[in-house]
Amino acid sequence: MIDLRSDTLTVPTPRMREAMAGAEVGDDVFGEDPAVRALEEETASLLGKEAALYVPSGHMANQLGLFVAARSGEEVWAHEKHHLIGDEQGAATVLSRVLPRLYSGDPWPPDTLLESWAAGAGENDVHRAEPALLWLENTFSGRVLPLAEQERVTAFARAHGMRTHLDGARLWNAAVGLEVPPSRVAQGFDSVSVCFSKGLGAPVGSALAGDAETVRRARRGRKLLGGGMRQAGIVAAGALYALRRHRERLVEDHRHASDLAGRIDGLPGISAEAHTNMVLIGVAEGSGRAHAEAFARHGVRALGSGDRVRMVLRQEIGTEDVADAARAIEKALTDL
Ligand SMILES: *Cc1c(COP(=O)(O)O)cnc(C)c1O
Repeated sequence: MIDLRSDTLTVPTPRMREAMAGAEVGDDVFGEDPAVRALEEETASLLGKEAALYVPSGHMANQLGLFVAARSGEEVWAHEKHHLIGDEQGAATVLSRVLPRLYSGDPWPPDTLLESWAAGAGENDVHRAEPALLWLENTFSGRVLPLAEQERVTAFARAHGMRTHLDGARLWNAAVGLEVPPSRVAQGFDSVSVCFSKGLGAPVGSALAGDAETVRRARRGRKLLGGGMRQAGIVAAGALYALRRHRERLVEDHRHASDLAGRIDGLPGISAEAHTNMVLIGVAEGSGRAHAEAFARHGVRALGSGDRVRMVLRQEIGTEDVADAARAIEKALTDL
C-alpha cells in the first residue's frame, strides 16, 4: 500500500531516534529542559523572531496565537477553509470566544474586502465587534501564498491596529517552494505557528514564535490548557534533528508531487495539479470519495471528498513509489 493521505504519517528515522535517545533532558515546566530550550531558540532564530514555545500540536500553537492576540467577543478575520476554522473543532469560539469573520475564494483577502470590513468596524459602528486579529495560512492546501500578498495584508492589518498570525504548519514547504529563508515567510507577522511533525518527520510537536511578550503569554496559556510537558526534550530532540536535517530534503517531496501530477493529469475524468508536497486531483462533483476508494482497492490511499482527492508526498515515498502510484491510479480509473 502506498499511503498518500498525509505527511503526518512520517515516522522518525533511525538517526532521529538516536538523537532522541541521547537527548539531555530536564523539567521543562521549570524551564530546565536543555533540548527543549535548544529547539525553541533555533526555531525562533530560523523564523527571525525573539522567542518560540514548544507545544504538543499545531492546533495548540494556533489556539495560543489566537488566545494571546484577541479577547472574548473580538473579531478574527480568516478564510473559511483555514485549519483554525474547519479543523480545530471550533476551539476558537470555545477557548478564546472570538467572532470569526470569514472570506472565501483566493487564500488571501482582497483590499476591497478588507476596506469594507474595516469601514464598519469598532468605533465606526457601535453594532460591530472590534477587529483584533488577521489570520493567514502558508502553505494553504499546499499552495504557496505570494510574499507580496502577505505583505499587503499584514501592512493593512498594522495600519488598522490589528495583529497578525501566520498558520505556518507547512511554512517549511513554503520557504522551499519560494526559495527563501523561513524568516522571510514569517516576516511581518506578530505570531507564527510551525509544525515539526508533518513533512519534517518529527514524531511530536509544533511551535509558536513571536516577540518575547507574545511567547511569555503563550507559555502561560499553554499551562492553562494543560500543555506543560516535563522531560519533553525526548521528543523535542527529534524536532530539532528534523529542523536541522530534514528541511532541505522537502524539495524531493515537491519534485515527487510534480512528477505524480504530471503522470496522472488528463487521465479519464480527472485533472491533477501539484502544489509543494501535495497533488490535488479534480474529479466530478460528489465523486471524490468514490475515487479515493477505487485508488485504495488498487493500493494507493488518499483523502477524497466533494470534487477533490488529495495526495501528500513525504520522506518515505520514493521515486519508484510515485511511478507505481501513477500506474495504480490509471488502473483504478477504469473501475469507476
Ligand atoms: C496540520 C495543520 C495544523 C495542526 O497541526 P496538528 O499538529 O495536527 O494539530 C494547523 N494548520 C494547518 C494548516 C495544518 O495543516
